[in-house]
Amino acid sequence: MSGAPVDPAPTDPAPGDRSAQLGPALQAVRERVTAAAAEAGRDPGELTLVAVTKFFPAADVRALARLGVGDVGESRDQEAAAKAAEVAQDGVALRWHFIGQVQSNKARSVAAYCDVVHSVDRAKVATALDRGAGEHGRRVGCFVQVDLAPALGEGADPARGGVAPDGIAAVAEAVAGGEHLDLLGLMAVAPREEDPARAFAVLADLAARLRRDHPGAVHLSAGMSGDLEQAVAAGATHLRVGGAILGPRPAPR
Ligand SMILES: *Cc1c(COP(=O)(O)O)cnc(C)c1O
Repeated sequence: MSGAPVDPAPTDPAPGDRSAQLGPALQAVRERVTAAAAEAGRDPGELTLVAVTKFFPAADVRALARLGVGDVGESRDQEAAAKAAEVAQDGVALRWHFIGQVQSNKARSVAAYCDVVHSVDRAKVATALDRGAGEHGRRVGCFVQVDLAPALGEGADPARGGVAPDGIAAVAEAVAGGEHLDLLGLMAVAPREEDPARAFAVLADLAARLRRDHPGAVHLSAGMSGDLEQAVAAGATHLRVGGAILGPRPAPR
């Protein structure tokens, strides 16, 4: 009997190697998306998975890019701008999605690095984004964020963001009138206390109404870690998934 220590299996991930955690988690989410698409009879090719990296370091964004992620989502301008600059330095090309509330004084900064803003909920924000996009010589895709609570018979929650359904048309007009903006469609977060299937059905109905005036607004941003299946069933094209890929979020810095 030899007393030699047993070598660790070469396939064991190094402790602290984020890619070893992110890879399988990302794979599991991709499988959920594929299964949800099959279940809904939809082409998975029309679904964009946005990995929500808010509060996670730029190193995680790089690791996700190496795993084939092309779209990342952020919710705070200062944090996102720093990460986008850091990741761009090593030549990693990603599409940056802004999903947090946009203060109109930050909109010009957001337009400097974001390809898509999911959270346009005031005409003023659209105007500021348009100006910023023009200054930076780029186009910004915009979703109008809707607060579904009023349509579901609940009180509006200003902290959640989003325009009430009866205000969608005016915000959409402001986006459509922006020289450097593309109106992509509607975005919403299912209210926590609500059945996501019911919330997303209401959203899909509002989206169909928007398309009567804006036939090009064919995208729909809906679905997070806990409700992406219901969102795919309701026609979502952009899924914003954080926790299921990255794990529990660290405290905001
Ligand atoms: C944080 C956030 C997400 C991601 O949520 P998870 O539950 O972590 O998947 C999606 N959308 C918005 C608007 C968010 O703020």
